[in-house]
Amino acid sequence: MTTIAFIGLGNMGGPMALNLIKSGFTVRVFDLVPEAVNTLQQHGAHGATSPGDAANGAEIVISMLPAGKHVSALYLGSGGEEGLLASLPKGCLVLDCSTIDEETVQTVAGACSKLGLEMLDAPVSGGVAAAQQGTLTFMCGGSETGFQRARPILAAMGKNIFHAGAHGAGQVAKMCNNMLLAIQMIGTSEALQMGANSGLEPRTLSEIMLKSSGRNWSLELYNPYPGVMDSPASRNYTPGFMVDLMAKDLGLATANAKSTGSKIPLGEQAAALYRQKQEVGDGRKDFSSILELLND
Ligand code: NAD
Repeated sequence: MTTIAFIGLGNMGGPMALNLIKSGFTVRVFDLVPEAVNTLQQHGAHGATSPGDAANGAEIVISMLPAGKHVSALYLGSGGEEGLLASLPKGCLVLDCSTIDEETVQTVAGACSKLGLEMLDAPVSGGVAAAQQGTLTFMCGGSETGFQRARPILAAMGKNIFHAGAHGAGQVAKMCNNMLLAIQMIGTSEALQMGANSGLEPRTLSEIMLKSSGRNWSLELYNPYPGVMDSPASRNYTPGFMVDLMAKDLGLATANAKSTGSKIPLGEQAAALYRQKQEVGDGRKDFSSILELLND
């Protein structure tokens, strides 16, 4: 069976690696947090002590890290330390599932091609629940051959697998989606809080809007009002998907809009609100906690 190195075992990477193990792949895991490695080890993964150790004997390397700087440091090295790419055997397939900037994708993909390695940007959507259930959506950027090679691996972690285009196209699809998600989450929070301020039960208002034209993903599966459903809001906004990560994604979207001349007035407003949430020290809360800005 194919051997896969999996690097970055956080809210998303942990359950994704677990699904690869469940599908019978040999999985070698590494994270800077030893407990994350131990947990996966208890489920049948080989715990590694470094990225190079994880990649030892692997045909596929998957990374699920916070941002571009982490991906760049892992693959290309930093502070005089050599990156992982240098030690990978020719033909190895690199799948970066993190949400990062296009520039880093192009740099890592260029370095891969010089070394005879195939790389895909393969960011995901669906959140922690979809990562656990193996129902993520993957948006891939890279060659058709790389995409076809990656497909059976991604199918063990996701349900919808798209080839968006060349290197970086997966990240563009992802930033468009997350900008829409942020706008939708803020709009959903505004509607629920205004209803609550007017004496409506948030649960009843949610049921009404779910059968009306305001229906959307945040309202249906990730309700931001505490107590309406089993969502991060009902667990004191434990992530889930952190405010810091949403703020990062909105930064990627606003940078893209600038470089492509796209007008995104609501995207910019969403970015400002998530920055405000960071400034009050809530960066590590779930992104649905944006509702708290409305009921201060
Ligand atoms: P997280 O912070 O929970 O996990 C990141 C993990 O990477 C941590 O365990 C951290 O210790 C590890 N890490 C950081 N640098 C490392 C390094 N150099 N070597 C090894 N491990 C390292 O983040 P997450 O929520 O799992 O998100 C990961 C990526 O997925 C982000 O780019 C995020 O934007 C994206 N994403 C998240 C969600 C979500 O709902 N959480 C949904 C879609 C996409």
